[in-house]
Parts: sequence; C-alpha cells; structure tokens
Amino acid sequence: MNARPRHAYVHVPFCRHRCGYCDFTLVAGRDDLIDRYFAALTVELERLREPLQLDTLYLGGGTPSHLGPDGLRRLFDLLTPRLRLDTNAEVTLEANPLDVTDDLVAACQDLGVTRVSLGAQSLDATTLKALDRDHGPADVRRAVERLIAAGFVVNLDVMTAAPGQSLAHVEADLAAGVALGVQHVSVYCLTWEQGTAFESARARGELVPAEESLERAMFEAAIDGLTAAGFEHYEVSNFARPGFRCRHNEAYWDCRPWEAFGPGAARFDGRTRITSHRSTTTWINKVLAGDDGTGDVDAMTAEQAARERIVVGLRRRDGVERAPFQAASGFDLDVLVRPSIGRWVAGGLATDDGVRVRLTRAGLLVSDALWADVLG
Ligand code: SF4
Repeated sequence: MNARPRHAYVHVPFCRHRCGYCDFTLVAGRDDLIDRYFAALTVELERLREPLQLDTLYLGGGTPSHLGPDGLRRLFDLLTPRLRLDTNAEVTLEANPLDVTDDLVAACQDLGVTRVSLGAQSLDATTLKALDRDHGPADVRRAVERLIAAGFVVNLDVMTAAPGQSLAHVEADLAAGVALGVQHVSVYCLTWEQGTAFESARARGELVPAEESLERAMFEAAIDGLTAAGFEHYEVSNFARPGFRCRHNEAYWDCRPWEAFGPGAARFDGRTRITSHRSTTTWINKVLAGDDGTGDVDAMTAEQAARERIVVGLRRRDGVERAPFQAASGFDLDVLVRPSIGRWVAGGLATDDGVRVRLTRAGLLVSDALWADVLG
C-alpha cells in the first residue's frame, strides 16, 4: 500500500481558442460550462475522505489562466479545503501570455502560486501565426516581464518543428527566452495528432512537417543553446537553471503516487493509472449524475510498472541507478533489460558504469525508438 500522494494535478479544460495542432482535453469558447465544471470538481474532490497534504500542485489544461483572477479565486476556494499546501509547496499555473494581466498576477500572488508555465511556443510572429496561436511576441515578453518582476518562477514552453520554422528561428526563440530571464524552458517538437486541424491540412498537402534531420538539428540547438546559457538539461524536453527543476514533474518521473482531478486527468497510485473521461461535457454530466467519471483504468503488473519506471528514468539525464531502482521496483535492472543496455552501450546510445545507466546525447535524440526494447 502506497503512502498518500503528496502531489496533485487539476485539469482546467477551458481555452479561448483551440490551436490547430492541439488534441488536449478542452473546450474552446464554452465559458458557459465553467459553473458546471466547478460543481463537478467539487463533487470529485469529495473522493478524498480526508484532506491531502501537498508538496506540489499543478494546474494544467486547457488554459487555467483563462479563468481570470476571479475564476482562479473560486477554483482555489474549492480546492484548498481538500488539497492543503505545505509551506514551501510548489504551485504551478499554466497560463496563456494574453491572460497575464496585473490583476491575474496579483491573484496568483494571493493564492500562493509559485510557478507559472507560459504557453509561449515562440517569440517569432511568423511561427506563432503558423502555429495558429492567438498571441504575439510582445504578449510573451510582457507576460514574462510581469511575472519575473512579481517573483514567480517562469517556465517557457517552446515549440520546434513548426510549419515553416527554420533552425535560426528556434535559436532566436531560445536566445530570447534566456534573455528574458526565465528559469525553466520546456522544448517540444510539434506532433501531428489524428483529428486535429493540422493533421487534416497535412493529409490534404497544405501543411508539410519538418524533415527529421531538421527536427533533430533543432533539438540539438536547444541542448547546446540552453546548456551554454547555464541551464541543466535534466529531462529529454526540460531545461532548468540550477535549483529550478519542476518538482511536480520530478514526482511523475520518480513514479511517486499522485492525485488528479478534472476531465482527462490521470491519477496514479504506483501501479494503476486511472484517467477521467476525456470529454469535458461527458465528464461534467457523469460526475454531476453521481458517476465517478472514470474513462480508462490501466492496471500494471509489478513488472510492467518496473519497466515503465525504466523508461521515465532514462528520459532523465540522471538516468537509472541500479540500487534505488531495485529498492523502489523490487526488480533487478539487469534481469529486466540487460541485453538492451548492452546494445545501447555498444551503439553509443547509453553509458553504463555499473552503478547507473544513462542515455548519451545520441541516445536522447532517438529515445522514443528505444522504449519498445524496454516495454516489450
Ligand atoms: S492554448 Fe494550449 S491547451 Fe489551449 S488549444 Fe492551444 S495548445 Fe491547446
């Protein structure tokens, strides 16, 4: 039996506009649903018989900042009787640059938000337009400046491999982010998801994905540019100035248990992942009708959980250390994946000093292709 979770995720599924590449759980232009969402969230929180004491709380979406200052105050009024924050808790809010007004910043300060993850994607007007974003470079700059001045830790989400984006664009985006003084950068490559407007346009030949060699060059430019600027590359997609790693995401990657609330949100008890219904309206209707709103249940065997622990561990630059891995999972790393480790080391994709296995830069570049070796 696991200890009670010290981490919680709350999904806020509202956006002003659905970006053409996005397949997340959200509704755009449906603010009429906000009251019913709050009502359903209140019911869902009752699942906790006793309040949870949290080290980290992450408000993601969708766009939690779309609730505005008053909506955020309502949200915290709902959450905090059940989700109690440690004195030094890390509280992250995902925000759209357009929402970062002085009033929102003041509300975040009052509510105990410590970290704002800004869905910037780029600081280049052409790239933002290509990504169907509703903000411009000046909005990003203004938002970062306001947040840093108010004392928040700021993460900048940066997208690579956007339609028409060049290597020079990516380098300029990263340099601009660094110059703005953000403490954390997450770099993601655009993915073409089924059912999105982008994927339909790609199928019609109207949008052309970046060449794989360019994608790889962009990722390498991110590693080189950000590490040269003093950031640690601590997970495949994540870079932090020393002392500014995201504690909430580290809990995920340590496979610690976490709670989750809201549509499409997945909670984890160390072995089983339970995901709420991914349709916002269905989740609201089910929860308000007295259902538990569960969509999927993924119950792993102990060995499957151990193998997943290897994958998330290897995505981190610290890699997987044999003794703690065995203590946490009950499995010997070498019994599970010795042949794969041998192949990776021989191919220059990993290093193994007998204590710890880590992916090399070459391994990180092809990491997604390695996981089938681990997961079987
Ligand atoms: S703002 Fe973020 S969550 Fe909302 S549609 Fe765009 S990418 Fe998706």
